[in-house]
Amino acid sequence: MNQACDIAIVGGGLAGASLAVALASLGYDIKVIEAVAYKAAGQPSYDDRTLALSHSSRRILAGIGLWDMLEADATPIRKIYITELNRPGRVLLDAAELGLAAYGHVVEAHRFGVAVTRKLEQVKNIEVISPASVTIIKMGGSTNKLHLESGGTESALEARLVVAADGANSFIRNHLQIPTEFRDYGQTAVICNITPEIAHAGRAFECLTETGPFAVLPHTGDRCGLVWSVASEHAQEILDLDDETFLTRAQQRFGSNKLGDFIQVGRRTAYPLKLARAKEDIRERLVILGNAAHAIHPIGAQGFNLALRDAAVLAEVLADDYEDDPGEAGLLQQYSRWRRQDQRGTIATSDGMTRLFAHPSMLAAGLRTGGLIAHALLPSLRRKSAIKAMGYRGRVPRLALGEPLRPV
Ligand SMILES: Cc1cc2nc3c(=O)[nH]c(=O)nc-3n(C[C@H](O)[C@H](O)[C@H](O)COP(=O)(O)OP(=O)(O)OC[C@H]3O[C@@H](n4cnc5c(N)ncnc54)[C@H](O)[C@@H]3O)c2cc1C
Repeated sequence: MNQACDIAIVGGGLAGASLAVALASLGYDIKVIEAVAYKAAGQPSYDDRTLALSHSSRRILAGIGLWDMLEADATPIRKIYITELNRPGRVLLDAAELGLAAYGHVVEAHRFGVAVTRKLEQVKNIEVISPASVTIIKMGGSTNKLHLESGGTESALEARLVVAADGANSFIRNHLQIPTEFRDYGQTAVICNITPEIAHAGRAFECLTETGPFAVLPHTGDRCGLVWSVASEHAQEILDLDDETFLTRAQQRFGSNKLGDFIQVGRRTAYPLKLARAKEDIRERLVILGNAAHAIHPIGAQGFNLALRDAAVLAEVLADDYEDDPGEAGLLQQYSRWRRQDQRGTIATSDGMTRLFAHPSMLAAGLRTGGLIAHALLPSLRRKSAIKAMGYRGRVPRLALGEPLRPV
């Protein structure tokens, strides 16, 4: 069977599905192709991860009609305590200092999946084709051609714009041999929910260690989301610990009494941490988005936030220059130029911090302690860093400013 559409989004994970929702109001005929059966328990993008969504992400999600569906399950981050293991560097970021109620919110990826799939079902001009995998892409002419495979059945789809949102191991990026920078950090994030003795009260904690962050995020009810980054060779051992030993070890690593004892732990999952950064984010009638374009270390909780800003900009470029052809080269170049500064800055910060904290030299130790102390002492520096971390870096799309996608 041969089908055609305006925009084909390959990958219906966090980034692909959000982009589809962002583009919905523009009236294009959109198809989302997702390899794993939608709503299946094993959908890889919508798992137990707790996602810290920045201030600008909340605005983008509100602008595309998703925040209303998430708000009840979202926990505000009011204060962030950043420390370094066994050294004196520490800083407290307080949203009130910026006159804000919260820096951002924590939402479980699974809850996000429930909301975004429900939203996609409500939009008439979006069709989700799932389970189906893209196995071939042919470029050139007035459309790009995709070959889909679903349970032994094959079909073809032509689209005037293809968006590759197919994750860090992107089939499309690999198939087109798009040059990509890879870095294995040798670290693995063990994630789970924990319940501490003392209520989190909207406080987030990030202890920076030589094997990555030990982060505790405020979550619904009394729970907190734990992201414990360990040397990859020790990850299995941490996963295999019985609950009681795990809680004791986690408590020791946390090293703070601000939450009291950790008293309960949920299911543990591990994610090897790698950088994958495509050196091109557009080609003929193609945009590479989300983890397919830039999978980054979760040290600053920026990966999905960055992808949402990509989606907001692509939607704005298409909304402003609506000329019927969403794959027009000039539009894609405009998108790519606009995104350069934010992508470069955000990736450099996450990669730089990860490597600085992993570096064993005294010079690196001095730099990171000095950096934290400088932030603790200088309100202007804290403010500058917080604004960037909230997603306001370079030219900001309308949705992230809290304005409608199309000016009224
Ligand atoms: C431990 C951890 C904690 C994190 N915490 C945060 C955080 O707090 N805040 C934040 O902003 N980010 C965070 N991130 C980053 C965030 O998880 C990613 O940025 C996000 O998952 C990227 O989504 P994506 O849709 O680009 O990719 P994915 O989630 O990988 O989705 C890709 C989708 O494409 C589908 N697919 C793949 N190949 C094909 C194909 N050939 N055909 C069709 N479909 C295909 C897959 O099935 C999948 O559904 C964290 C990451 C980790 C590992």
